[in-house]
Amino acid sequence: MKFVSTRNSELRVTFEEALFQGLAPDGGLYVPEESLELQTHFKALGRDSTFHEIASLVTAYLLKGELDAGAVHRIVKNAFPFEPKLVQIDDQLSILELYHGPSCAFKDFGASFLASAMEEFLAQSNRKAVILVATSGDTGSAVATAFHNKKNIDVVILYPSGRVSPLQEKQLTTLGGNITALEVDGSFDDCQRMVKAAFVDPELSKAFPLTSANSISLGRLIPQSFYYIWAFAQLKEQLKEEFFFCVPSGNFGNLTAGLWAWKWGLPVTGFIAATNANDVVPHYLETGIYAPRPSQLTYSNAMDVGNPSNFERMENLFHKNWNLMRSLVFGDSITDAETLEVIRDVKASHNMFLCPHTAVGYKAARRFLEREARDNGHVCVLSTAHPAKFLEVVEMATGLTPELPPPLVEASTKEKQSYKIGKTLADLSTILHQVLK
Ligand SMILES: *Cc1c(COP(=O)(O)O)cnc(C)c1O
Repeated sequence: MKFVSTRNSELRVTFEEALFQGLAPDGGLYVPEESLELQTHFKALGRDSTFHEIASLVTAYLLKGELDAGAVHRIVKNAFPFEPKLVQIDDQLSILELYHGPSCAFKDFGASFLASAMEEFLAQSNRKAVILVATSGDTGSAVATAFHNKKNIDVVILYPSGRVSPLQEKQLTTLGGNITALEVDGSFDDCQRMVKAAFVDPELSKAFPLTSANSISLGRLIPQSFYYIWAFAQLKEQLKEEFFFCVPSGNFGNLTAGLWAWKWGLPVTGFIAATNANDVVPHYLETGIYAPRPSQLTYSNAMDVGNPSNFERMENLFHKNWNLMRSLVFGDSITDAETLEVIRDVKASHNMFLCPHTAVGYKAARRFLEREARDNGHVCVLSTAHPAKFLEVVEMATGLTPELPPPLVEASTKEKQSYKIGKTLADLSTILHQVLK
């Protein structure tokens, strides 16, 4: 299997190259060159199929010719000491909990697989890498925990001082070891600008084997397809006619991974793209007009994206055909008021806390079932973060405080360790030379 840029199908690379490049040199995003034919495998899956088995199956197909079975096994085993969990709400709706990893959000699946795959490739070629990443919160904690103690890899995380939540800051700054946290006296945009400048700086790229781990990396997207397949295997015996996934979306990486699983043969009737007020994609699905705009702040802030990068991958999958895309993907946009209402209702009716992102998905799923009268349909809603990560919103909605899960309790009790730096490339350069030997 080769991987190609969304902007030029002649630009073909191996998985390893895509992994360490991040973005394609022409500014495009990498996608698999060909589809996989996995229908027969998917048909054979059942309730007893394990997440590891499914992850290994897909990884082995995608990396055929590049990695042997032993390497695939190591990557999957090291990446996933945690698993998704499926909670059935009723006949028509279930929730796929993706927050049982070390940072308590679904981004753990992508970050952890990326870290594991990089470690494997680096060991095989006896190289080192320095991961440089800017974060406004969630991405950084998933990357930090995923790369912690990985061999031959150092991680440097830049975050804007005073602008990430106290708990997120703890998650970024308390790991130690090969993880260095830089507290930048500036905004998230400053952090991002510094990271971009470092990548193109001749002196720094000569001194350090710099690599990115941002959300558009193919190595983070592919593993997200695994849990769609696993959820299908869990549910398939009871499914009637129609089966949908509802995906709370911001940058649309999660939804894209689901679309790939469908392309490879997963029998899904459709996908619901649920957004908050940042409804660029639902608007496109309705009108055929793609109109990116500055992002708007909402309660589900990990989905506050005004120009989702992975839309380019979605267009690529549907050959820029609007009708084709909207025959499979249904959009809906949920307000902040509806988000609070759902969190309150689901706590009252099912004694269950939802994070605000999951609440957006839950509401869109219910409305879809109602509006479309899909009586023989089942919707699986992806639950993207633990409710305790968004305490303020959950408390506002319910008046109650969800309990912190063990990884967050552990982080919250540790001492913060960070280097305070200014917002210029020179500041970054000085500290890199100081902390990386
Ligand atoms: C990143 C994130 C999302 C959005 O996922 P995309 O792949 O960017 O669409 C949703 N919920 C949470 C909690 C997130 O961290």
